[in-house]
Amino acid sequence: MPKSKFVDFKAVKAAITMEQVLQHYGLMDQFKRSGDSLSGPCPIHKGSNPTQFRVSISKNIWNCFSECKHGGNTLDFITRMENVSVHAAALKAIEWFDLDRDAMSASSETDEEHSSQTVKSAPTAPPKPVARKPEPIPEKSTPNKPLKFRLDKLEREHPYLTERGLTLETIVDFGVGYCAKGMMAERIAIPILNPEGQVVAYAGRVPSEPEGDTPKYKLPQGFRKSLELFNADRAFKEPRDMPLVIVEGFFDCMKLHQLGCRKVVALMGSTLSAAQEELVRQHTNRHSQVIVMLDEDEAGRAGREDIAVRLAKFVYVKVHTFEQEGRQPENLSAEEMAALFA
Ligand SMILES: [Zn+2]
Repeated sequence: MPKSKFVDFKAVKAAITMEQVLQHYGLMDQFKRSGDSLSGPCPIHKGSNPTQFRVSISKNIWNCFSECKHGGNTLDFITRMENVSVHAAALKAIEWFDLDRDAMSASSETDEEHSSQTVKSAPTAPPKPVARKPEPIPEKSTPNKPLKFRLDKLEREHPYLTERGLTLETIVDFGVGYCAKGMMAERIAIPILNPEGQVVAYAGRVPSEPEGDTPKYKLPQGFRKSLELFNADRAFKEPRDMPLVIVEGFFDCMKLHQLGCRKVVALMGSTLSAAQEELVRQHTNRHSQVIVMLDEDEAGRAGREDIAVRLAKFVYVKVHTFEQEGRQPENLSAEEMAALFA
């Protein structure tokens, strides 16, 4: 194990669920759900009694009441399944669930293995405070994995979608719809495709304006939106001499598409990641035009400044501004849209 890898076990534990871990091992179909618990045969000692192993879904802990007579958290489970150290288990979890490597790397005091070594090597003097920031786990450009399933039975004609101005044609075209149950239950599910056209995630939008701090969108754990541009699969198939429009949100993108602007991608936020920048670079040339059209608000203005500077290094950039505070590309009328491209 390379010694430069410092892992924040707490962050890894917080980022994954027992359900995900069981899913990773392909065990979910052996488990029965009842309220907050999952029960099934113990995958660690490979028992057969269907109630010997229990998981608390909300607490993300497990217990084997049979041979193992043991329980623990997600990392303890991986540790036992793989027969490795907790450090190795955490690295595996980061890999399997494509967790953000920077967020999962820690200062040395939280890496148990490392701090115990520090103490051992200096038994007489108190350990010096570590000034050097531990090296982050090397960034690996693991792409988002294509999903092996599709959310079906999505309700296409949901009032929320109509209220946002989408036609049934657009709704079907983007494959969005209201999800009654399943991973995006009671949300509008929006499939996110990679540039190759494979579905890599579903985003779930609350079909109303959420109260308080409730986030509007839910994205699957482990999915890295910074690696994708929404609608890239179709936008990049459009002619190279057409300008590429960059917007923030799914609905901006779908709405512009509906108005006939087919070469449009959404950042799924107001910043452009390095990976997204690279995607744009790969699909443009030095004659290409890019129109940056973010929301007319503080985040949008900050985002577009940065994006314009970065993209201007390799394409012609036009920054679109709205006169009215708070306006978004989603609000553009067909006339305004036409004027834009005239
Ligand atoms: Zn067991």
